[in-house]
Order: sequence, then C-alpha cells, then structure tokens
Amino acid sequence: MVRMLRWAAVLCIAMAVTACGKAGVDAKRIEAAAAGDWLTYGRTYDEQRFSPLDQVNKDTVARLGVAWWASFDTDRGQEATPLVSDGILYTTTTWSKVFAFDAKTGKALWSYDPQVPGEKGFNACCDVVNRGVALWKGHVYVGALDGRLIALDAKTGKVAWSVQTTDANQPYTITGAPRAVKGKIIIGNGGAEYPVRGYVSAYDADTGKLAWRFHMTPNPKGEADNAASDKVMKEKANATWSDGAWKQGGGGATPWDPITYDVKSDLIFVGTGNAGPWNSKIRTGGKGDNLFAASIVALRPDTGEYVWHYQTTPRDDWDFDATQHLMVADLPIGGKTEHVVMQANKNGFFYVLQAATGKLLSADAFVKTTWADKVDLVTGRPVEAAGARYENGKEQEQTPGALGGHNWQPMAFNPKEGLVYIPAQTLYMDYADKQEFKFIPGAWNLGLGPSTLSPTRVQPTPFGQLIAWDPVTKKARWKADFAEPWRSGVLATAGGLVFHAAGHKFVAFDAVTGKPLWTYDTGAAAIAAASTYAIDGDQYVALMVGFGGAGGMGGLEPRRKGRLLVFKLDGKTVPTPFPEVVPQPPLDLKSAIPSKGDPAKGEALSAQFCVTCHNAGGYLPILAKSPVILDPVGFDAIVLKGAKKPHGMAPFRRFFDEASAEDLRAYLLAEAAKAPPTGAPQMTHGR
Ligand code: CA
Repeated sequence: MVRMLRWAAVLCIAMAVTACGKAGVDAKRIEAAAAGDWLTYGRTYDEQRFSPLDQVNKDTVARLGVAWWASFDTDRGQEATPLVSDGILYTTTTWSKVFAFDAKTGKALWSYDPQVPGEKGFNACCDVVNRGVALWKGHVYVGALDGRLIALDAKTGKVAWSVQTTDANQPYTITGAPRAVKGKIIIGNGGAEYPVRGYVSAYDADTGKLAWRFHMTPNPKGEADNAASDKVMKEKANATWSDGAWKQGGGGATPWDPITYDVKSDLIFVGTGNAGPWNSKIRTGGKGDNLFAASIVALRPDTGEYVWHYQTTPRDDWDFDATQHLMVADLPIGGKTEHVVMQANKNGFFYVLQAATGKLLSADAFVKTTWADKVDLVTGRPVEAAGARYENGKEQEQTPGALGGHNWQPMAFNPKEGLVYIPAQTLYMDYADKQEFKFIPGAWNLGLGPSTLSPTRVQPTPFGQLIAWDPVTKKARWKADFAEPWRSGVLATAGGLVFHAAGHKFVAFDAVTGKPLWTYDTGAAAIAAASTYAIDGDQYVALMVGFGGAGGMGGLEPRRKGRLLVFKLDGKTVPTPFPEVVPQPPLDLKSAIPSKGDPAKGEALSAQFCVTCHNAGGYLPILAKSPVILDPVGFDAIVLKGAKKPHGMAPFRRFFDEASAEDLRAYLLAEAAKAPPTGAPQMTHGR
C-alpha cells in the first residue's frame, strides 16, 4: 500500500495536467524536484538551477528551435525566471505583471496587472523589473514594485489576498521573487540607495498574515521593533553603528534578491544590500562594521530566529550588496563532504561557507579586485588595498564598482562537473568623497562627490565573462569572453549544456569545455536566466528577452518589446521579426525656446536627480537628446507636474521649483549643443 501511494505520488508529479494538480505545489513536490518541473525561482530549494533533463544535449542541441513565443506590451527590463507547474508556465514582466500560459502550446491563460502607481518607478533604482513568482498549494505569489505581496489563484489569476509589506510612503520597492517555505511566503525589499531600512518578512501562505519579520539594521530611534531581530540587534548589531546619516534613512541593507532555503540545515539564507548612504564617513562616522549590511544572514524559516551571519564587506563604502545568488550544494573539501552555501559576491570574491554554521571555508577572487588583495580566512575579513576608502579625500578608480563583479543574474551549478557558472563582469568605477552632505528624503542619498579624475584619461574597457568556477580547487576551469559586461543569468542541464545570453545572442555552451555548440539570435537582449521543463516527452527551454534593467545596455542594444521565447528540439516557429529601429532624429535646437537658467546649477541637479536612470549606459533615454527639453512648458509639465507619471517619471516638485527646472533645462540644452553620449533610445511602451 505504501509502495502504491509512493507510485501515485511519482505519477502525480510526472503528469502534466492532472487532477492531482489541484493540491498544487507543496514542500514535498519542491523537494522531490521532478525532472520536468521548475517549481521555485532556482528550480529546487538549493537553487542550483541544474535540470536533470537531457533530451536537449550536446548531440541534439543543433536541432533546438522555437516551439512558441509570446510578446509583452512593455519595452523595459525582463528579469523573470519562468516557473512551470502542472502544465502551466508562470512568468512576470515589468510593473510586476503576472502571465500564465499553457506551457506546451503557449496559449495565454490569464494575466494579472497589480496596477502599481507609476510614480513608484522613481523608487526603483534599476528599472521597474520583477524576477518572478512563487508557487504554493494552488496559489501564485508575486511581490509588487510598490511593496505589496499578492496571492493569486493559480488557475484563474484572481486575487486571493494582498498585503502591504512596506511603508508605502517610504521609497521601498520589491523586484525579487518570493519563496514558499514550510507554509510561509518569504519576501524581502529594495531601496538601499535612498536609503530605507531593509528587512525580510514571512507571511502565512493561506491567509497573508504576517508570521515574522527580521530587520537587517538597528532601529534608528533605538526602540524595540517587536520583531524576530530584536535580540540579535542588541547582542551583535547595535554596537557596530555610530552616529551618522544612516539614522535619517535607516541604513539600507535591503534583502532585495536571494532567499535560499536549505532543507538539510532547516535554514534560510538571506543576502543583504549595501549600507546606506554608501559613503561610510557620512553614514556612520567611518566607524564600525554596520551589521547586517552586505551580509549573508541565516534564519529559521518557522520563526525568523537568527542562527548565523557572515559579512562579506564590513563597513561597505562601495555599494557591495551581498544580494547575489545564494546556492546550496555538497562539495568534496578536505577529504570529506561539506554541505555549503556559495556566493559570487559583487565585491569580486567567491565565498564558500558551511551551511549549518556559516564557517568560512574559502573566499577567492573570480575577477580582478583592486579594492582588496584577498580575504583573510582567519579573520574572515577582506584585506583592503591602500586608498580603497576614498573617504580619506583621495579619489579611487577601482574594480569591481557598484555594478559588481557579479550582480543579480543567477549562476548555475553542474554537480557532475563540480562547476559553478558565473555571469561575471569587469567594470571600473570612480569613487569620490562628498564634503558637504545634506539628506534629501525620498531621493538618492549616496554621499558620493562628482569624480574629478580626468575624463580624458584612458579608462579600462568594460567586458564580461562566463566563468566555469571550480569551488573546490578555487580556480576557473574555463572562461568565455564577451564585449558585453551586463548579460543574462545561467541555466545548466544534465545534457552537458550551459545556457547563457550575451546581448541578443542566446548560446548553449559545452559544460566541460566552454565551446559554444548552438546560438540563436533572439533579436532582443536577454538579462534573465532561462529555465527548462518537460511535457509529454518533450524538453522545453524558456527565456525572457527585452531591454533594460540597470547596467550597460543603453545604446548597445535596440529598445525592444519584451518577449518570452520557448524552445524545443525541431521547433520550427519563426517569431515575427522586430520592427526596424528608426534612428532618433537629431534635435532641432534652432526651434528650442532659449533658457535663462544657470547651466552650472542645472548640472548639479542633473547629477543628483537625473543621471542615475538617464545615463549613457542606462535604460532610460538620454535627456540631452529628448525633444522635451526644447520647450519649458512641456518640460515643466513632465519634470514638475508629473505628465509622465504613469511611466515612472514621478513629479519632482517636492525636490525643486520652476527656477531649478529651468536651470536643469539650460544645462541639458547646453549638453545637447555638444554631442550627447549614446544612450538608451526613447521609450514607446514605458508602461
Ligand atoms: Ca545597492
């Protein structure tokens, strides 16, 4: 009887659309990780992003073609990993919209738009992106950009419950995927650049009732939060902060992406963001380690109880969020099997920690790291290079910079080869101290001054690498080089393949040698990671493509509407070609209404409020190329009054007045008369 039940369970898992799908995804199904499923963000709780499917393999991959595809009405960043359960594929696009498709045919089943207020776009440091959903017992969970956690009926997309997980008046955002663990939905938040005070929360999956919350920085007023973090704050964190601007915003440390559950140790590992403001002299008088910013924190999923932490960047000065992919695996280290959690950190070091205890086993540079020579394995601390802390008045050009040696783009693991595939990059950045700092509520508050390093100096060219990293020998086994630093996440399969995209080239690499075996031109850039699943004997590979997300793509790739591309062997579908890119006509500056504003004041405003999003490598249009600057009435309508609020351009009247807007316009007109840099094209589908 027991045996029969077990077979029934296996059958239930193996069948695509069945009556047993009614119960939906639960712990057993996620833990059993049937080959054909992709039930949680990293496929399995350990987030290895390794699929046992091998129909698509080194011998067959040449036959891989598009089975079906879908188009989305947005031309902004696509970062979601599609999940597949019971024959339905779930994905998300910008503004936290959720879409469900028949995973075999591509038939659209339902979609859900949480109607995030447009002005929340201003609070998203790095585009209005979303990385995907969680599945649990007949529900689909999405974190909305405005801080809501929403449960939807998996069959219909109808809202089951919705809770506000943040103070809606503070610049919090959610872009990460929730995780479903032991009947709870775990969700973090973002906003460390403003900064806000980061925390992770667990909600009852059935009711949406808050189960526990763990803050990542001390309470700025010194009060108790009545949260799971209260005890450890007193014991470990409070004394690591000194007086400074952190008290005005909350210190950052926002856990905006990785939340990994380890079944074996019954812990969740949470990566936290940078401390805020970035400049530690301004933030905390240059004193203390500032726990739990830039850290990996291990908590009990039932209660939020603290178990251990490891801080990757003590007293962060460089925006070194520890929010990169956290992956659990068994590794043969020192003659025994170690159960570990691994991270290729923004700061350029690859960390291997004992999962149960947080003990540091190794930390080695996977890219060039000019800010630190190594990590001392005895103290667990980086050995910083002289001058790395620009706060001493000397400017610093270093790598990695704020975009990291590796960012949120997920890695993948091949357990047979013992290799972690890291989408890495080398990008230098200038850091300069800011002598006079004034906290501006609701705006970016970094505490960085403008760089005065010569703009004509020869700067190192950014580039990217897919690194096959051996975490046991602590060396790369192979590397593939790319001109693009900012590329897609990674998928590894038992077919001996590693799927990774650079720009609009989607490539299957040989997992052992790094040789490219198959390439498909997606027509639009990919930054998300692919997932794979099987239905009725066919293996599918699914990838979200589009444009945007923070970092380096502006000007390199055309702005395209987002698409979901799903491949299988002998797939013969040819997606409709993207429309030709019409070059933006140069501005007719003769038609501009001249400005009496002060361009020098305008330049300072631009640096403070505009260039974060509207920069040369970014995802929003270059303002000095926009016809909007020609006419003060239209300019003020957008900048001060919020005419483009639905697209994310919040009204800036709370930050400056008509005279300031005219100073800004004067500066932009002056820039337009020079040759403005190449950047992201104008949006056509900002919503
Ligand atoms: Ca950050």
